[in-house]
Amino acid sequence: MITGKTKLLGVIGHPVEHSLSPVMHNAALAKLGLDYVYLPFPIAPENLATAIAGFASIGIVGFSITIPHKQTILPLLSTISPIAQVIGAVNTVTRQGDIWVGTNTDVEGFIAPLQTTYHQDWSQKKAVILGNGGAARAVVAGCIQLGLAEIHVVGRNWQKLQAFRQSWQNSPFADQFQIHEWTELPNLLHQANLLVNTTPIGMYPHINDSPLSSQEISYLPQEAIVYDLIYIPKPSKFLHLAETQGAIIIDGLEMLVQQGAAALKIWLQRETVPVTEMRQALQNHLGI
Ligand code: NAP
Repeated sequence: MITGKTKLLGVIGHPVEHSLSPVMHNAALAKLGLDYVYLPFPIAPENLATAIAGFASIGIVGFSITIPHKQTILPLLSTISPIAQVIGAVNTVTRQGDIWVGTNTDVEGFIAPLQTTYHQDWSQKKAVILGNGGAARAVVAGCIQLGLAEIHVVGRNWQKLQAFRQSWQNSPFADQFQIHEWTELPNLLHQANLLVNTTPIGMYPHINDSPLSSQEISYLPQEAIVYDLIYIPKPSKFLHLAETQGAIIIDGLEMLVQQGAAALKIWLQRETVPVTEMRQALQNHLGI
């Protein structure tokens, strides 16, 4: 029940109607029995500064950020965590006293299944990352945090790849990965222990598309882990092909759950949040 004491959390985006964050966060808040509500806020780019000022005046506890505000929010925040500074994007904002503090929980979300279920010594392992957009930034940072021996980012546009590399020049993660054009993939795949798709290829409704063919996936070594950030469909065609070839597969749902859980811990200042209920709420909502 919403009362005069109910505290407010939310997500900003444009569009935001398809955000799954309200589903998982409200499920967690209900499980915890807390007098909070998490709402979607559609905010057009030109209204961002006004909206953030409004959030301050109504005492919102914190909010998530989705496309297109993950970078443009930066100048509106007083403090930005080191990891958000390194990847140049914020997905979680908290009101602390009278200032806004931004961080990024996508890295934590991405590495969570690699640290728990599929934990291993990464220091001798090589990663190949498909795509060089926003999500690839969190994946590169995650692979560096895990300590992978080699990290190779593969893209279709050499100019964008160079801009991607250049954008890390002032960070401690500069020069910790290499960039490659798509044509170099066959050679890279032979030694890829971790292959991550950060492109939207295969995402609903294009469910029959895959960034790599079955033959290309067959170049992977034994016991390779194939990770797709896509969570609809679950599994994607790419993961289905990889599983058929004997690879270990991870879909994007766990990253979504874990980045949300990490944000909720920050807002509620709790060590634990009900991750099982968050995952289950998403699965029920998506019918998977
Ligand atoms: P983005 O910033 O638009 O980046 C997409 C990247 O994919 C770009 O590098 C783009 O290449 C590349 N790409 C697109 N179509 C391609 C094609 N046909 N062939 C080769 N490369 C192609 O998007 P994003 O925010 O990184 O999101 C990417 C995907 O990750 C989406 O499916 C999103 O839903 C998913 N995601 C999942 C989570 C999660 O929690 N599971 C979190 C974030 C994102 P160019 O640079 O050349 O255009």
